[in-house]
Amino acid sequence: MIASVPVERVDAFAPTAGSGGNAGTINLELDILDERLQFRIGVADERVALADIVPLARTISARIADVVIATDRRQGADIACRKGCGYCCQSHMVPLAVPEAFRLTEYIYSRPRDLRDAMLRLCLLAARDILNEDPPEFNEHGPIRTRV
Ligand code: SF4
Repeated sequence: MIASVPVERVDAFAPTAGSGGNAGTINLELDILDERLQFRIGVADERVALADIVPLARTISARIADVVIATDRRQGADIACRKGCGYCCQSHMVPLAVPEAFRLTEYIYSRPRDLRDAMLRLCLLAARDILNEDPPEFNEHGPIRTRV
C-alpha cells in the first residue's frame, strides 16, 4: 500500500542575498517499504559547492530512516541505534562520501583554533592507523573486516 503523505519542501540551495534567486524545483518521489515519500527540492540559480548537498542528503536519509524505524517497531524489532552511540565507529571503518568529507573539513576549519587543531590531530592519527593496515575487504554493505 502506498500511503499518501504531504510533500516535504526541502530548500536545499536556498538563494542567498545578491544571488540569482530560485531557479525552480525538483520533485522527488521515493517508495520506501510501503510508504511513498515526496520531496520538492528548491534549486538556486547559482553555483554551489559539493559539500552543500549534505544537508539535503541528510534530510532525505532521515525521512527514509523514519519510515524504516517505524516499520521495524511495528513489527516488534529492537533497534540498537541511539543518538550519541559510537559503537560501530569504534570497531568498523565507516566510509564517507566525498561531499561528507568536504563538509567535515569545512566544519573542522570553522571551529576555534584549539578545537580545530585537536580534531586535525585525531584525523592524522586515524589516517596513519588506516595507512598502516591492510586494506579492508568490502561487500555490498561496506567494509567487512573490523579494526582492532
Ligand atoms: S554507531 Fe552503530 S549502533 Fe551506534 S547508532 Fe551508529 S549505526 Fe547504530
